[in-house]
Amino acid sequence: MTPLTVNRDRLAQTFLELVRIDSVSREEGSIACRVCEIFAEELGAETKTDESRPLTGSETGNLVVRIPGSIPVRPLFFNAHLDTVEPGRGVRPVLQNGRFSSDGSTILGADDKAAIAILIEAARILRDTGIPHGPVEFLFTVCEEIGLLGAKALDPALLSAREGFALDSTDPNVLITRAPQAIRFTLKVVGKAAHAGISPELGIHAIQIAAKAMAGISLGQIDPDTTANIGIIRGGTATNIVPSECVLEGEVRSHDPARLRKVQDAILGAFHREAGRFREETKASLPLVQTDVRDDYPALCVPDDHPIIACALRASERIGSPLKLQKTGGGSDANILHGKGLTTAILGIGMQKVHSTEEFILLDDMELTTRRVMAIMEEWARNQKEGQQPTSQN
Ligand SMILES: [Zn+2]
Repeated sequence: MTPLTVNRDRLAQTFLELVRIDSVSREEGSIACRVCEIFAEELGAETKTDESRPLTGSETGNLVVRIPGSIPVRPLFFNAHLDTVEPGRGVRPVLQNGRFSSDGSTILGADDKAAIAILIEAARILRDTGIPHGPVEFLFTVCEEIGLLGAKALDPALLSAREGFALDSTDPNVLITRAPQAIRFTLKVVGKAAHAGISPELGIHAIQIAAKAMAGISLGQIDPDTTANIGIIRGGTATNIVPSECVLEGEVRSHDPARLRKVQDAILGAFHREAGRFREETKASLPLVQTDVRDDYPALCVPDDHPIIACALRASERIGSPLKLQKTGGGSDANILHGKGLTTAILGIGMQKVHSTEEFILLDDMELTTRRVMAIMEEWARNQKEGQQPTSQN
């Protein structure tokens, strides 16, 4: 295996340049343009921007970059997202003792520009060293932070690879192979308004009915695979009016789709039951409960013996930095890609305290991840090639 040398200074400079380009969700035009320029003009790669703009509302589409292989093996993809959260405008990065941070007034944007910088460095190493590798595709998505919109709008046929890695997690020694399915729901309890001082008996108190139902349901960590939350409650218009409406918004996540539906049914059922009990007791036609359930993202589950997992583990052993396989409770682009038939594992890159103005990342962790990505590319090519030999001899 070729010894891997990462150009640390080049990697650092690329990262500093990228975080200085504003790219909050839907405003990814400038960064997409710069990334495209690096790959197309400097590295001679094939680039393509998809037609997802009408669906995402972004200035640009998702960007797909294709680097041909020097060995004819199955292609492999690597994914990162182009957008950042707020406050993400006018980032002034600080590099001190190998640690990148912002000046404290904005996020840094290591989520996920560290990944973009790592993939650019990897492509430059491929060009400079002639390491044998198969076809590699990079997928840079838009609007990840506002609902995985770019990934949701992506036509998976734009990629020829069917398996790969998303670089969008924290611990650089962890590979995430399981992420939950999630749904979101809105519940509306419809009661009846009345003057709270003059004729409260004519009212049906929507908030109190919602409160009684809510007191009886389980939230939080329901079981090792499942969580549930009600995160927003709105209701009432004045202290002297019996509230006629109470709206609750929540979510359920589970690694087990059947458990997810059970917990969802238990929550919604508690509200229907409470409203039904009230109607029965009062012989009234109210309160009613209206529900709206939306699929948020599908589950991600890559078996431990899948070729990309085996490849990542072997490659990591080779560079002396073993990977731990873990599950996460969060959802990301990887869930969507996986749901579209693109088998995706999520690689940690070292970013820390993301989505806060204290966000930071160590150059050492970025270098390690670049070495890991290179080792994965090399191992994939080597192993796929060996795997093909028996058939080519027939
Ligand atoms: Zn991210």
